[in-house]
Parts: sequence; C-alpha cells; structure tokens
Amino acid sequence: MSKSLTIAIDGPAASGKSVVGSQTAKRLGVRFLDTGMMYRAFTWSALQAGIDRSDEKALAALAKSMRMQSETRDGKDVLLVNGEDATPHVKSREVERAVSYVSAVSAVRRALVALQRQIAADDSIVMVGRDIGTVVLKDATLKVFLRATVEERARRRYLELKRQGKQVDYEDVEAELARRDKIDSERADSPLQAAEDAVMVDTDHLSIGEVVEEIVELLGDH
Ligand code: C5P
Repeated sequence: MSKSLTIAIDGPAASGKSVVGSQTAKRLGVRFLDTGMMYRAFTWSALQAGIDRSDEKALAALAKSMRMQSETRDGKDVLLVNGEDATPHVKSREVERAVSYVSAVSAVRRALVALQRQIAADDSIVMVGRDIGTVVLKDATLKVFLRATVEERARRRYLELKRQGKQVDYEDVEAELARRDKIDSERADSPLQAAEDAVMVDTDHLSIGEVVEEIVELLGDH
C-alpha cells in the first residue's frame, strides 16, 4: 500500500465514524486513528487534575506538558495520558459532558493536531473526527463526511448503550448529541464542518458494511 494513502472521515456525534473508520482501515490493511478518543482522554486527564472545563489557562498548560501515547495491552489498544490508562474512562458521563468545551480551546487542539499529524506522517491511515478534512489532513487522498439525522444517530447510540446494559433514556441521548453538535459546530477554532472537497455520505438507510463499501469504491475514483 502506498505510504501516502490518507482517508479523512468527519461527521457529527454518533454518525458511525468510529466503526466505519475502523472497518475501512481493516479492509484496506492500514492504521486507524479515532481522534475523538484523544479529545476524550485529554478531557479525562484534565478532570482528574481538578481542572474546570472552562479554565482555558489551566487546560492550555496541561496540553503543553501532557504526553499521550497508544499501546497494545493484552491485545487491546489503550490510550495513555502521562502514563495513565484513560481508556476505561473515555465514555463516562463526566467526560461526555465536558469534552466539547475542552475541545474548543485552541491550545488543546494545537497539541492534539500536532500529535495526529505526527502519527499520519509515518503510515497510511484512516483518521476520523470533526476537523480531519478541514485541518488535520487537508491533503487527504479521500475526504468523507458522514451524515445522519439526529433521530437516527440517537437511535443507534441508544441501542448501543442498552446493549451495554446501561440505563438510558432516548430523549436524554438525543439531547446530549444535539448539545455536543451545537458546541462543536459553533466553536471558533476548527468547527465541525465538511471540507469543500469532501464527499457527503448519507447513512440513514445504510448498514455499516454498505458505508464501508461506498468508501472503498470512492477510493477507487481517486
Ligand atoms: O467522536 P467523538 O464523539 O468521540 O468525539 C468527542 C468530542 O471530541 C466531540 O464532541 C468534539 O468535541 C471533540 N472532537 C473534536 N475534534 C475531533 C474529534 C473530536 O473537537 N477531531
């Protein structure tokens, strides 16, 4: 596989980026990076340090000094922040509530974008997030923007949480997704938006496999 194969997948919360991205990467035999996990891990680390989600100065200082690395432990990928495994905490309610505020801080984005570009420099990669096509990998081989209605995204996330045995209310799930999308879309630095040259893929009526298939087909045109 040529070293320069880079696929940027962006989209709103719960649009299926992670599962589609990881399956596409597997299919192509290239690396996968979920940048949302990095913002979540950083947010967990900040909360652990007692930093308020609105304290830009403290968040910026932490971003400057923080070390983040991924490792495989017992066959599973884990994300370490300053040596501590953030993986078990990234999906927690506290992190979910704070992550969009923390991600709006430019110094935090600068640190994580630098890391993401460093990772992409070494390998062919499928990278998913909010600003991959617009900022992180502006020269990506293929840019895809996944779309789905908030109702469909909430339905998928609700079923996923239920499957994990969590007590959840559909209305709460939908409100939480809409809240994060609003903050992510309205922030000044790298808001959630499709790159001009991104291909829009509407996923409402598609299975994960069909979306992966479409991306692989689109890649053939590039
Ligand atoms: O993709 P996921 O929902 O896990 O992302 C969690 C949050 O991280 C998003 O709501 C957004 O605030 C932030 N994020 C971001 N830029 C990215 C990926 C995620 O700001 N590239």
